[in-house]
Amino acid sequence: MSIKFEAVIGLEVHCQLATREKLFCGCPTDFGAPINRNTCPICLGMPGVLPVLNEQAVDMAIRAGLALGCEIRERSVFSRKHYFYPDLPKGYQITQYERPILERGGLSIELEDGQRRVIGLTRIHMEEDAGKSIHMDTGATLIDLNRAGHPLIEIVSEPELRSAVEAVAYLKALHEVVRYLGICDGNMDEGSFRCDANVSVRPVGRAAFGTRTEIKNMNTFRGVQRAIDHEILRHIDVIEGGGVIVQETRLWDEAAGRTRTMRSKEDAHDYRYFPEPDLPHLIISTARIESLRATQAELPLAMRERFVRDYGLSAYDAGVLTGEPSLVAYFEAAVVAHPNPKGICNWLTSELLGRVDAAKVPTSNVSPGALARLVALIDDETINGKIAKTVFEKMLSTGMSPDAVVDADGLRQVKDGGAVELVVQQVIDANPNQVSQYRSGKLGLKGFLVGQCMKVSGGKLNPSVVNDTLDRLLGPPATGG
Ligand code: ADP
Ligand code: MG
Ligand code: ZN
Repeated sequence: MSIKFEAVIGLEVHCQLATREKLFCGCPTDFGAPINRNTCPICLGMPGVLPVLNEQAVDMAIRAGLALGCEIRERSVFSRKHYFYPDLPKGYQITQYERPILERGGLSIELEDGQRRVIGLTRIHMEEDAGKSIHMDTGATLIDLNRAGHPLIEIVSEPELRSAVEAVAYLKALHEVVRYLGICDGNMDEGSFRCDANVSVRPVGRAAFGTRTEIKNMNTFRGVQRAIDHEILRHIDVIEGGGVIVQETRLWDEAAGRTRTMRSKEDAHDYRYFPEPDLPHLIISTARIESLRATQAELPLAMRERFVRDYGLSAYDAGVLTGEPSLVAYFEAAVVAHPNPKGICNWLTSELLGRVDAAKVPTSNVSPGALARLVALIDDETINGKIAKTVFEKMLSTGMSPDAVVDADGLRQVKDGGAVELVVQQVIDANPNQVSQYRSGKLGLKGFLVGQCMKVSGGKLNPSVVNDTLDRLLGPPATGG
């Protein structure tokens, strides 16, 4: 007999907050600084020093809470979580345990069929990051403490995700939110946005959860998906083979495409949590929350809806533009300069994004004003769409304005009837065979003749004037037969 299983997944996401300074000291947080440069007695864990809370990090945590609909606790508490590891010089991590700054909340995720679902959040707490261990080929391990004390928020979801695909949808939605809020750069390569996945399976229809394992060490969305899929299958295999799942922490091995045991799972009591005696309770006033709320950035979902509603874009286009914060400002600046949102969106998504990475669009050779002007020149029929591509190429490679390119290269569209007629007549004279076939009913040849006119004129003729002129000079083709 074979039972059908269902997966149960909960994610714990660590976001490095984009503060200038660390959580409890004034050390800078820049990534890639020389090893152990960004350190001081506080983040090195020297005895006799006192942590001082970075208020900018608290503001960022509150922003996350506002965006995710969390309850913001008026009085929260920092705790010490004890464990020994070489990259944790104090021997404990300052985190929040019993009374985190944020509780409950929800994140709306979009599934592949376009449906939306809200995934519950259990809690979000503030904590400090640990340093980094660098394992050398020689077998030695070096320690870099630049990251020690970097502020984090840990966002813990309810076990409400049911597949690897849903887990990735959740992760992408969260990634977008923190980037839009400007509280995390979201760089997964550099570890600014990291995720641990808790996975279990249960027979479909059973309410109780199975035993979970926690997977670490995934650093791409794709890695998360593969790791979870692998782990679900492994659980099912073990259970179907009559075995039991052991609660443990497992490492994802990207190259091997499998997870392997890292350590057995600690229970909370192993950490000997207790309130941090060197920090006062964190008190958050309503006034502070309200002033942050008043300056909160617009979230991607709301922005997407606005782009569809106010600019008449398709949901797909709105998604492309709002998927990258740097494109949003660019697009809106261009629309202010020339209010044809659809035209600008087309040029931006199909031409500019075809050539330039989304993040580099704002600093490319084509400014929002220049792109808007290009679309304006098409709209007022100064140039046609085909010539516009040539103009665009030159703008991109030289930084010239579209007007300058059009003037320098003589690309202005020819609409004048007489001038068009000259070219059309020339094409008719040069192609007697095609003309007579067209006249005897082979209507498809008109496209060929239009093409010839454009070719002869270097693409500068207005296509609809060419069409009308051809119709007039060729006369009506034979019909029927
Ligand atoms: P810990 O901090 O020890 O990892 P938590 O109770 O905070 O444990 O849970 C961590 C995550 O594990 C949460 O995201 C939660 O939703 C998820 N989780 C808890 N139980 C299960 C389970 N049986 N299967 C899958 N995920 C689970
Ligand atoms: Mg955990
Ligand atoms: Zn420091």
